[in-house]
Amino acid sequence: MRALVYHGPKNVTIDEVPDARIEAPTDALVRITTTNICGSDLHMYEGRTDVETGKVLGHENMGEVIEVGQGVVKVKVGDMVVLPFNIACGFCKNCTAGRTGFCLTVNPGSAGGAYGYADMGPYSGGQAELLRVPFADFNALVLPDDAREKEKDYTMLSDILPTGYHGTELAQVGMGDSVVIYGAGPVGLMAAMSAQIRGAAEVFVLDHQPDRLKLAERIGATPIDDSDGSGVQQVLDATNGEGADKGVEAVGYQAHDHTGEEKPGITINSLIQAVRPTGRIGVVGVFVPQDPSASDELAQQGEFAMDFGTFFFKGQTMGTGQANVKQYNRGLRNLIHRDKVNPGIIVSHELSLDEAPEGYQHFDDRENGWTKVLLHP
Ligand code: NAD
Ligand code: ZN
Repeated sequence: MRALVYHGPKNVTIDEVPDARIEAPTDALVRITTTNICGSDLHMYEGRTDVETGKVLGHENMGEVIEVGQGVVKVKVGDMVVLPFNIACGFCKNCTAGRTGFCLTVNPGSAGGAYGYADMGPYSGGQAELLRVPFADFNALVLPDDAREKEKDYTMLSDILPTGYHGTELAQVGMGDSVVIYGAGPVGLMAAMSAQIRGAAEVFVLDHQPDRLKLAERIGATPIDDSDGSGVQQVLDATNGEGADKGVEAVGYQAHDHTGEEKPGITINSLIQAVRPTGRIGVVGVFVPQDPSASDELAQQGEFAMDFGTFFFKGQTMGTGQANVKQYNRGLRNLIHRDKVNPGIIVSHELSLDEAPEGYQHFDDRENGWTKVLLHP
């Protein structure tokens, strides 16, 4: 089959690789119809991880089931399914508590599994013609008969819509809240949509990129252009000097300041300032563990000085981590089916698999208008 293969920093190509196949009785085999490029893929693409060369990338996957193992009882050949980026067993201590982003079975000794990702287990990605889906009955979410018609919306259920929602869950966004979201990338925009699903009264979205801020406005949020570094002050001014009730971080450790310099943690420290005393902050932007065994350059990346004093003094709370996609994707699927949300609004490009390397390049350059790229193998 053809697949997008990682060969080194900024070097991905479409190669012929062995076909994905059923390997365990609980597996399903899916023919991919849509698979997306994610901001998380850029951590690998830019060479900021130790992902092995030869890895097939792609964790935002949707398609048609073409074969099931003998132990699969619910999912059927012909079903259109969307797959959470998390691979989870469904029976470990974390999965049974709904924390499927931290499955203890699929990637022993680490924290959770995912398709086509560094340090998330040996699983191949879905930027390919075929994908092996472990524990298919648990992981595959079957879609209604408008699956093909609303493919642009449903494909967002694999990651970014539930991830945005997870940010608002970690921050406990509730009715009437004001919410400040750092980052107007796909995840930040989905967090803005989610905050409104949960009844927020006002949602501020901060970024430096005008095209993305325009989308935030289309979603119903108040865009805040932080390109002069005045973002925190603008939030304080808009909230009587108190700060927003809740905050969501949707940028990650690769954040840059308004001059364009990389400043890991600047978003966390800004949120501590922009959220009111006793407010909650949900962090879904990715931060990476210290790894003494990695190269010097990789070992310390993402390390930053958190303003813990202000965080403490303001009595704030912070929730973090990978999204437990499965906890939210069923409810969000139903909202899409009933036309209550339209996450596909942020899709800017739909490409063939062969065009994927160009898609990576444009998306990685944060080129004007390249917000979310869908691939159709
Ligand atoms: P993206 O890189 O497309 O978007 C990030 C946005 O942040 C960009 O628009 C950029 O201009 C903006 N930004 C950078 N520095 C900023 C700053 N100081 N203040 C305000 N905005 C700033 O990525 P994305 O696809 O939206 O993903 C965002 C993050 O979420 C990434 O770290 C990604 O890995 C992570 N993520 C986490 C999960 C999870 O389960 N927790 C899932 C998916 C993605
Ligand atoms: Zn993703």
